[in-house]
Amino acid sequence: MKYTEVKIETPGEKIEEVTARLMNMGIEGLAIDDPRETVKMLSTIGETEWFDEGEIWKEAEDREAYINAPAFVSFYLQEEEPCLDEIQEAFSDFNVTWKVVDDEDWKDKWKEYFHPTKVTSRIVVSPTWASPKELESVRGEEDIVIHLDPGTAFGTGTHESTSLTLGLMEETIDQGKDQKVLDVGTGSGILAIAAIKLGAKEVLAIDIDEDSVQAAKENISLNIPNSESIKVALGDLTKGVEYKADIIVANLLSDLVIRFAPDAAKHLVPGGIFISSGILIEKQSEVVKAIEKAGFRIYKISEAGDWCAILAELI
Ligand code: SAH
Repeated sequence: MKYTEVKIETPGEKIEEVTARLMNMGIEGLAIDDPRETVKMLSTIGETEWFDEGEIWKEAEDREAYINAPAFVSFYLQEEEPCLDEIQEAFSDFNVTWKVVDDEDWKDKWKEYFHPTKVTSRIVVSPTWASPKELESVRGEEDIVIHLDPGTAFGTGTHESTSLTLGLMEETIDQGKDQKVLDVGTGSGILAIAAIKLGAKEVLAIDIDEDSVQAAKENISLNIPNSESIKVALGDLTKGVEYKADIIVANLLSDLVIRFAPDAAKHLVPGGIFISSGILIEKQSEVVKAIEKAGFRIYKISEAGDWCAILAELI
């Protein structure tokens, strides 16, 4: 099967406008290539350990060129989709290019990365580079789709600790209840995006890792452009945070969940829900004890593989 790859060239400051307009036209799965993000990343490189220094300096030499280079928003249309004309007309002020690509060209790339995957009964995660065909093959009509480019951040949805959390969120988040959600350790932003798509009113997402904060911001604007409903902050758990939530989601490791439980209680309204995950089954009873000690009643524990996630209610 053939697809049309469309690329819209845009000045950096218009990326949000372009993505919002495309989303309004019903186009999903946008990938953004913004050189300014690379420059920003390079300026904070001192704090990241894993970077290959040689690569950094090679790129840094081109800093000026990077700053002035345009950004690109790209996406795929099925060949028979009529809206290429519509897009060209709507974006007549921009440089729109397209090329037809064959399904076959993609195959190997997909295999290297992750594929659209149904991770709960209602949620599909789809890499931004997935073709419409692959996404449609797993997506049910009523499903929520989360488009992701996790980069180096954790959270494609395919790890048990994430899918268990998403499953418990589905049971807890209700459209129309105006729930506020705190996502501690947001990684790729997957849980924050899911919260809004499931019907929460607003989310504060926190991560201690700058690259994750950046990835979360990008993934959020990809899924919910121009949304004021999700804020992302760099931080250590909820230190210095005033926010009171109806629901806290925290897919951290056992020791961190144990450490965080008393603070979770402080950041929830009475009767609030604490969903914790990233807990190895062998650590379950230790974590349960800590959560109960912090003032919660355990409501449900879900397990998959070696992992469990705990749903608790503040008494
Ligand atoms: N929420 C995502 C990612 C979970 S991975 C998901 O469910 O898939 C755990 C995340 O917690 C990582 O991104 C890590 O950087 C972050 N983290 C670890 N320690 C933290 C701390 N003390 N405060 C805030 N975030 C932390």
